[in-house]
Amino acid sequence: MVASIVDSLDGAINHLAYLADDPRIDYQSVVVWSSFLTTAFEVWLNRRQLRQYDKPKPPPELASHISDDKFRKAQAYGRDKTRYSLFKAVFNQILGWAIIRSRLYAKLWYVTGGWMDTLGLAPSRTIVHSMMWISTLVVFSTIPSIPWNYYYTFVLEEKHGFNKSTLKLWIMDQIKSTVLLAAIGLPILAAFLKIIELAGRRFVPWLMLFLITVQLSMQMIYPTFIQPLFNKLTPLPEGELRTRVENLAAKLKFPLNHLYVIDGSKRSGHSNAYFYGLPWSKHIVIYDTLMEQSSPAEVEAVLGHELGHWSYTHPTKLLLIIQLHLLTTLTTFSIFIHNRALFDSFGFDPQLAITGVAGGPQPIIIGFMLFQLVLEPQDTVVNFLIHALTRKYEYQADEFAVKLDKKEDLASALIKLHIDNLSAPHNDKLYSMYHHSHPTLPERLRAMETYVRAVDVQGKKDL
Ligand SMILES: [Zn+2]
Repeated sequence: MVASIVDSLDGAINHLAYLADDPRIDYQSVVVWSSFLTTAFEVWLNRRQLRQYDKPKPPPELASHISDDKFRKAQAYGRDKTRYSLFKAVFNQILGWAIIRSRLYAKLWYVTGGWMDTLGLAPSRTIVHSMMWISTLVVFSTIPSIPWNYYYTFVLEEKHGFNKSTLKLWIMDQIKSTVLLAAIGLPILAAFLKIIELAGRRFVPWLMLFLITVQLSMQMIYPTFIQPLFNKLTPLPEGELRTRVENLAAKLKFPLNHLYVIDGSKRSGHSNAYFYGLPWSKHIVIYDTLMEQSSPAEVEAVLGHELGHWSYTHPTKLLLIIQLHLLTTLTTFSIFIHNRALFDSFGFDPQLAITGVAGGPQPIIIGFMLFQLVLEPQDTVVNFLIHALTRKYEYQADEFAVKLDKKEDLASALIKLHIDNLSAPHNDKLYSMYHHSHPTLPERLRAMETYVRAVDVQGKKDL
């Protein structure tokens, strides 16, 4: 039974692979056109959002909480950020297009092949070659993003009073991130390629198993080994807040192990709180900025919301959905893995021996990169779907906090956070659905209000 399903699935994949490997399909044009369309869509969304910053008054839900001065500041900050992302999207589009048109992927493969030769490495060592290729490509694509990142932190955020980072800290952050990316990313990528090399076209289950293991290990490694490289976590001192949070955790049977404060203020004035850990041992982290801005009761209400996510097992559900998405992506990749037409259209000359051996296999890593380019437009749709789901989760977590009788504190905490972070007072509906994992603040406040009223009516009926 299982064997016959696997066989028919295999047959279907082979058939699709045959259909997709048609020299008449100009994959490069497909990628260029679809990426231009995606960027055009994003620019259109940004322009819709930009109009929101011309509105002269805050939305009614916020009107009594936000001063004229704060409102003007929030509008100015939002306008600057949206303009920035509009220009960046256009710049990245042109850069991506130039990289494709100049056949950089193919050229780099031949250039790094030359380096292999110089180093006396046999051309058959495709994985070493792939590591050289990806590292060079990452360097090429990271350099243009440095000025953008610099501008964002030291010009844009600075202008609006959020930047707390120094040039030295910023440079150290960039170096640390790059070293970490190489130290963790390259071995994972090498294993990824090796698994496909060994398993052939039926690599999907093996690769899934490997990637799930990697994700779970990263969840354990990140807070203990990686986060401390960037931030300091200190136990929350004894006091009203600690008692409140501990009581809340005990009441909900949340397996709280550690309660930390993180020095988010080292880099930025933005604030937050979150939890992490294994099912039986959880840790809560509160930003020092959140504690400065809110009363203990308000921080407790924010954590009430966070523990709502835990109670509804939202993180686990999201993790499962990510795996499903990964499984679909990898299965589709197995259709494209040996696609000659795809390689040809990006300048990999079929006459030239790609790996130095005439007729040799196409490098997996390049197949994967090209396949991702083809697949990219579907991210737009995935964005909408995932955000629709996370918005639903946000409403549920808010409802959870309301049930804990924390509506007033949560509402005032969210309003304070919103105002202190200078979040956009008005949001274009479509822009927000595409970009934001959370509903807008007026939407959340309205939903909490509706929920309280529904419970009131229900309560009276029960009496
Ligand atoms: Zn939430």
